[in-house]
Amino acid sequence: MKSGISIDEVLAEVVAMVRPHFGKGRPADYIPQLAGVDPRQFGMAVCTVKGEEAYVGDADVPFSAQSITKLFALGLALNQIGDEVWTRVGKEPSGTPFNFLSQLEHEQGVPRNPFINAGALAITDILLDTVPSPDALVRDFLGMLSDSRLEIDEAVARSEVETAHKNRAIANLMRGFGTLTHDAEAVILAYCRQCAITISCRQLARAALPLAADGFSPIAEETIFPSRLTRRLNALLLTCGTYDSVGSFAYRVGLPAKSGVGGGILAVVPGQATIAVWSPELDRFGTSVVGAAALEHFSQLTNCSVL
Ligand code: GLU
Repeated sequence: MKSGISIDEVLAEVVAMVRPHFGKGRPADYIPQLAGVDPRQFGMAVCTVKGEEAYVGDADVPFSAQSITKLFALGLALNQIGDEVWTRVGKEPSGTPFNFLSQLEHEQGVPRNPFINAGALAITDILLDTVPSPDALVRDFLGMLSDSRLEIDEAVARSEVETAHKNRAIANLMRGFGTLTHDAEAVILAYCRQCAITISCRQLARAALPLAADGFSPIAEETIFPSRLTRRLNALLLTCGTYDSVGSFAYRVGLPAKSGVGGGILAVVPGQATIAVWSPELDRFGTSVVGAAALEHFSQLTNCSVL
């Protein structure tokens, strides 16, 4: 990353630049428990592969990780069964919202990619083959990678399970096509609990470091993903990580990234650093408005875009 100024100075500039973007979005309200979050929070953390860390604002406040967990669940599934994952789910951008149903029926219950909800449900189904609680597996994986003890927010999990009507429809459709092998309700429960994992920006940036460091976690001091898999995970983030706004996100930010409706966004600068940003107000694609603006400014100031 080239900017001539320190990461701390870049973050201070980013904070000033994003201020006008508050109030342009709304926190997710289709999961009632998320609607109550104070919308004007903002945190950002950067971890470099060389061991530097910088953070600003609410970077230590735990937030609902939501779909960002899908990346780590996918990594676990790929480590477990390798390319067999791709017999269950595709690798193409969906061009549709994260919980879109009819595309799935047209495509015989095979989800377009592992980051839309249908794809994440397929990944949960794969993990259920080997563990009774994929949610705890993902929580502990993230905990190990960030050297911290992470929690599942039980109130958020309950709220999401109670209102997961569209996700239930998706799971039942896939069960009908035979692309889910476990009971749809068991998959929904594990998926919703996984989404309810809470994590702070600092913990998330640390946990994602293998994606920037060729698969190696400097925190856990071990290789987490083979180098080729790391590149492929970044390719999927770049092409599918922000749903039906993935093209404009790549245009603006130019980094592999995963959004979550809790307002978090994780971005990777391959070979260099990870960036986690959080601010709860979302655009209509489920991406944090202030978070995306912060990443756009960061990428411009540091010239770190991969494109
Ligand atoms: N738990 C959310 C859902 O299933 C995840 C969506 C997201 O974070 O993008 O609707």
